[in-house]
Amino acid sequence: MFSNLEELKEFCRKQEIRLIDFKVVDLAGRWHHLTIPMERFTEKTMKNGIGFDGSSYGFLSVEKSDMVFKPDIRTAFVDPFSEIPTLTMIGDIYTLGEKRARFEGDPRYIAEKTERYMKESGIADYSLLGPEFEFYILDHISFKTTPQHVEVLMDAQQAEWNTDKKDKQNLGYKVLNHKGYHADLPYDSSFHLRNKMVLALEKHGVPVKYHHSENGGPGQVEIEVSFGPLREMADRTMMLKYIVKNTAIANGKTITFMPKPFYGEAGSGMHVHMQLFKNKEPIFYDEKGYSGLSNIALYAIGGILKHAAALMAITNPSTNSYKRLVPGYEAPVSICYATANRSSVIRIPGYAIQPEEKRFEFRPSDATCNPYLAYSALLMAAFDGIKNKIDPVDEGFGPYDVNVYALSEAEKAKIKGLPKSLEEAADALEQDHQFLLEGGVFSKGMIYDQLRRIRADAVQVSIIPHPLEYKMYYDL
Ligand code: GLU
Ligand code: MG
Ligand code: MG
Repeated sequence: MFSNLEELKEFCRKQEIRLIDFKVVDLAGRWHHLTIPMERFTEKTMKNGIGFDGSSYGFLSVEKSDMVFKPDIRTAFVDPFSEIPTLTMIGDIYTLGEKRARFEGDPRYIAEKTERYMKESGIADYSLLGPEFEFYILDHISFKTTPQHVEVLMDAQQAEWNTDKKDKQNLGYKVLNHKGYHADLPYDSSFHLRNKMVLALEKHGVPVKYHHSENGGPGQVEIEVSFGPLREMADRTMMLKYIVKNTAIANGKTITFMPKPFYGEAGSGMHVHMQLFKNKEPIFYDEKGYSGLSNIALYAIGGILKHAAALMAITNPSTNSYKRLVPGYEAPVSICYATANRSSVIRIPGYAIQPEEKRFEFRPSDATCNPYLAYSALLMAAFDGIKNKIDPVDEGFGPYDVNVYALSEAEKAKIKGLPKSLEEAADALEQDHQFLLEGGVFSKGMIYDQLRRIRADAVQVSIIPHPLEYKMYYDL
């Protein structure tokens, strides 16, 4: 949007912008923000940055918690959710010291290093990523961190589906459970809200492919965005989550990207489609290859499947992630690849047949990931496969063009399963992360910060008595 401070200041004067807001992403993938009056935004802010206490950002490998961020004015947008006209932009994290240097563990920097590594190693000039966002729109949610909290969640779900108010308004057209997929009006009760979300996204640099209602409960929906390059797509992912959440709140609703908010209902995934280009040509296409894929694409699949367990600690980094990855809900459970088969980790969409649209989809990921780290890690695994010619057939990853859930137990036993818990994924990443360190893209410190963070979450959840335990053991 802006290429220099003068342009930006001029815009602020014309639009009567009063405040400048800076967003900085933490390790978990949350935006934090800090705001200054417009008058305080000067050349000095651009050069020296703004100091902040990074201790709550999860970057424990940094010795001192004091850090600096510098604004990236190219990302500036007028914040639609601020009452007073505010220009918001993303900040990049730098270390302290005379010579400010980019902080190695800044997720945004890791995404940029991945792109640099891709070019410098000659693998590709650029990547295009296409994430798909599934989430639930709810009237309200209330929860307490007590042993009863799961029951409370269930109540909220029932409230959403069964309120008298709703029944009276909508007697004949109530979506039946699991029947909401692409349901049209008048069933599609969140259609108008999704339209508002999508138009706000379009306005703020996140082009949308389409949106629709999804299969889970009434309330699950999906927005798919147009493909974009790695770092940019991670910025757009942050923006999408910000816009979707705040638009819902402005309209009296709440949304959640939690991978499995409701037992017995479809979980919410964030599948990621991937493509690589060299000399402007798509390098994943070969009309003679399996499902129209080139050897390079198959090696990329080989790399991703080989490192799938370790990747999960980055692409599925919450305890809740593993409650989604169970059979029966179109979520993947097995480390294999196939064409148009939703039960595999990698699916090759059968409908994308043109060379420039040839791609595959990584299905495990969910939106509890930090998008900068998740997209980077996926591509680093793909690059490892390409560099080392990891053949997915030789490795026993398929292709399995059958419903993996429906295979015999003996057949299923041949296919490796995804980690079943966050702890298992953490152990896998601890064992297998050299592919992420190539070219100095990820650092060991960063990997250990991530391991510490997710293991701490796993411990917290494991030491709280679960409501079901009262049902199962109270009377023993
Ligand atoms: N909701 C499913 C999941 O958990 C995916 C459904 C679909 O393929 O659209 O990944
Ligand atoms: Mg979907
Ligand atoms: Mg998909």
